[in-house]
Amino acid sequence: MPVCVVGSGAGGAVAAATLTDAGIETLLLEAGESHHSSSFTQREGAMMARLYTEAGLLQTEDDSLVLLQGEGLGGSTLHNTALCVPPPRGMLERWAQAGTLAIPPEEVLAAADWVLASLGAREISAGDENGNNRRLREGAAALGLEVRRPLHNRTACSGCGFCILGCAYNRKQHVVPSFLVQAARAGLAIWTRARVHQIRREAGHLRVEGPGFVVRTEQVVLAASAVATPLILDRSGLGGRGVGRSLRLHPFAPLVAEFADPVNAWSGVPQSVLVTHGDRAHRGGVGGFVLMAAAAGPASVAALWPRLGSALSEDIAKISRLGMAGVLLHDRTRGRVRGRRDGRPQIRYWPEVEDQVDLRRGLRDLARIWFAAGAIRVLPPFMDADWLRPGEEDRMLTIGQFRPHRMVLSSVHPQGSVPFGPRATSALDGEGRLLAEPRIRVADGSLLPESIGVPPQVTIMSLARLITQGIVGKGRFG
Ligand SMILES: Cc1cc2nc3c(=O)[nH]c(=O)nc-3n(C[C@H](O)[C@H](O)[C@H](O)COP(=O)(O)OP(=O)(O)OC[C@H]3O[C@@H](n4cnc5c(N)ncnc54)[C@H](O)[C@@H]3O)c2cc1C
Repeated sequence: MPVCVVGSGAGGAVAAATLTDAGIETLLLEAGESHHSSSFTQREGAMMARLYTEAGLLQTEDDSLVLLQGEGLGGSTLHNTALCVPPPRGMLERWAQAGTLAIPPEEVLAAADWVLASLGAREISAGDENGNNRRLREGAAALGLEVRRPLHNRTACSGCGFCILGCAYNRKQHVVPSFLVQAARAGLAIWTRARVHQIRREAGHLRVEGPGFVVRTEQVVLAASAVATPLILDRSGLGGRGVGRSLRLHPFAPLVAEFADPVNAWSGVPQSVLVTHGDRAHRGGVGGFVLMAAAAGPASVAALWPRLGSALSEDIAKISRLGMAGVLLHDRTRGRVRGRRDGRPQIRYWPEVEDQVDLRRGLRDLARIWFAAGAIRVLPPFMDADWLRPGEEDRMLTIGQFRPHRMVLSSVHPQGSVPFGPRATSALDGEGRLLAEPRIRVADGSLLPESIGVPPQVTIMSLARLITQGIVGKGRFG
């Protein structure tokens, strides 16, 4: 087999489709199962267990931060919330100037246009804005803050609001309908339930091994996610320089708001508004934040609530009147991921002080927005903080303890664990080839040299496209 792609999410699916389109015989290996929307029950307990890595219970090593990732054909794109944000030009220019990325920004942006067209990304109509996002937009507008409506890869969406449990109506243009169906028709071989354990280097070929299978191949494209790709490299004896040591997570801290009238935040398109005044990525800076609605069902909301016992049940009883949003941090903190003895990931990550400061600023600004939208009170994400009333927004800068187990943080955007970059710290050359073994390329969220600062699926797909064009020989790396 000339090329073997490992992982079928945002990066892997685009890589496999690009190779197949070019007539290169390709095998796609995916650890999870193939799912069909007709089997999606919209029940959190069942669907989290089926669609998410470790049933949605993957956490950092001290259990202080929950990390949600997909497992199955389509990876995390199958149950993401369908926001399609092109890579910020400012970040690409920053990387180009630093010599981190060998691909000029214009080429990445052109690849992003191709990705957006392939995903059928389009603006959702104002009529599809739910009560939660409407309040967020109105509050931000009242304060004169910048609000953007991102594109979405959903078509004729019914607005049921269960996106993160997989679309039961098959209206999401995730990577299976957008890339893999056509690629399979054109000859792409796909093995599901094929969890790659390691890659052995042998004279003339690479041996890709997993339980019950061995594949001999000339080249490998690794796209098992920013958590799993470094583990495979580690087990293959390739976990050296730059591998697993610069994990970014885009941590998300929720800020809940109580209103006098119903919000019904769970109903409708979950995230249709981005408040971007704190976003430095578009200006080529690092740090800062994006404010956005939270997308979660009642069980996940309860699991990520900063109060326990009777206080939790009193709060949750008001759920129909609660606005749900949070701060998505453009993090600078470098986490670490490596394999445990049992093969599971051991993830070390907690935001460093400069990120903590930005996150608190984001919470303060979000509190201002909620109050400008008419909220009665807001609940900070700290275990030892109580609800705050209008006029108390600045307390967000000091309230509570910013430390593990004393606050609520989660992540759905792992990145940066096998990055491009200066040779001293990176694992990949500027074209996505592993420095330690150029027959292996990385084409998933791992390769970002810094956190991208916006929802990352379009960036990952764009870079995966360009990197695999290097194998095809038609692209700039041919
Ligand atoms: C709930 C949720 C909502 C999100 N919403 C958005 C959004 O609206 N917009 C946006 O841009 N981003 C969103 N994201 C993030 C986005 O989906 C991810 O950043 C992106 O899919 C990551 O791409 P990837 O290729 O790195 O990994 P993934 O898409 O996670 O794919 C990795 C694949 O590799 C497989 N795999 C793992 N280990 C192995 C192995 N050993 N062998 C074989 N296969 C393996 C996995 O099963 C998985 O299918 C969201 C994510 C989640 C979880």
